[in-house]
Amino acid sequence: HAKEMGRNQFQFSSPYSKRRIKQKLYIEQGLKSALANNEFKLLYQPQISVGKSTEHRIEALIRWMHPTQGLVTPADFISIAEESGIIIDIGKWVLKSACEQISILRNAGIYTKISINVSPKQFKYSDLTEDVRSTLQEFKIDPSQLEIEVTESIFVEEMDDVIKQLEALRALGVSISLDDFGTGYSSLSYLKRLPLNILKIDRSFISELPNNKHSQTIVESIIRMAHQLSIQVIAEGVENQAQLDYLKKLDCDFVQGYLFSIPLETRELFTLYQSLSVQ
Ligand code: C2E
Ligand code: MG
Ligand code: MG
Ligand code: MG
Repeated sequence: HAKEMGRNQFQFSSPYSKRRIKQKLYIEQGLKSALANNEFKLLYQPQISVGKSTEHRIEALIRWMHPTQGLVTPADFISIAEESGIIIDIGKWVLKSACEQISILRNAGIYTKISINVSPKQFKYSDLTEDVRSTLQEFKIDPSQLEIEVTESIFVEEMDDVIKQLEALRALGVSISLDDFGTGYSSLSYLKRLPLNILKIDRSFISELPNNKHSQTIVESIIRMAHQLSIQVIAEGVENQAQLDYLKKLDCDFVQGYLFSIPLETRELFTLYQSLSVQ
């Protein structure tokens, strides 16, 4: 008789949704103790220069080592963390851990920029600039070694306020990148208002290269436009040589993806840099 109720049936009463809600509560509870119990870790994925830049850079990506569920990826907990507000404390932990890692690498003679993903909630409900300033100071980090990745979703908040905060971060010497470009609002008019250093083209466009005509046009236009605005470009999700060759031809600055490396544990990062310095 569920069928008779058809489309008018409340989603809420379906067993599937009940399970979802239970699972959500379970994750929310778990997140509360995860910080205290040190269950998070950062993995690091290299962003490789394919242009003139000699800069080393890596992106920090969070993982949750759940005591019974095993490894949980951000797709399964970030939005719940955002809804419940725990993202603020997780964000502080990410900032601190990334800065600590920058200083550990630097002490080993490895000088690299690390970018961290920041939630719109951190702009709205915390003093991100102050947190970044004090954490840089705590670990004696050169601000140019830290990058903040935001997505277009921050612009659902007060645009002017967000721009002010981005400018304050830039004034500290930190760089800003716009993640997943092309999937959100992608309003070209705000691009020139934003204090951006890097634009990251979303994987969905890269995965259709080099043969899809639409993706070709989009990627080519994004790169040309970014360069005209003095913004560098990272292609996300580069998985094969044909994509890489095409992106090189278009003058893309950096590539990130499984072709070069999956996100790495810190010890693998050391191995990688050792192998690079041998060459
Ligand atoms: P993102 O920032 O766009 O990160 C890129 C995602 O693509 C990562 O997924 C990465 O593992 C994956 N990736 C990299 N290269 C390839 C490739 O060649 N092919 C494919 N198929 N995937 C690739 P991950 O680590 O699961 O993170 C997913 C998203 O979760 C991130 O997307 C970011 O939005 C969010 N996230 C990750 N770490 C954090 C964090 O510390 N804080 C916040 N607020 N969000 C985070
Ligand atoms: Mg990112
Ligand atoms: Mg992305
Ligand atoms: Mg993303």
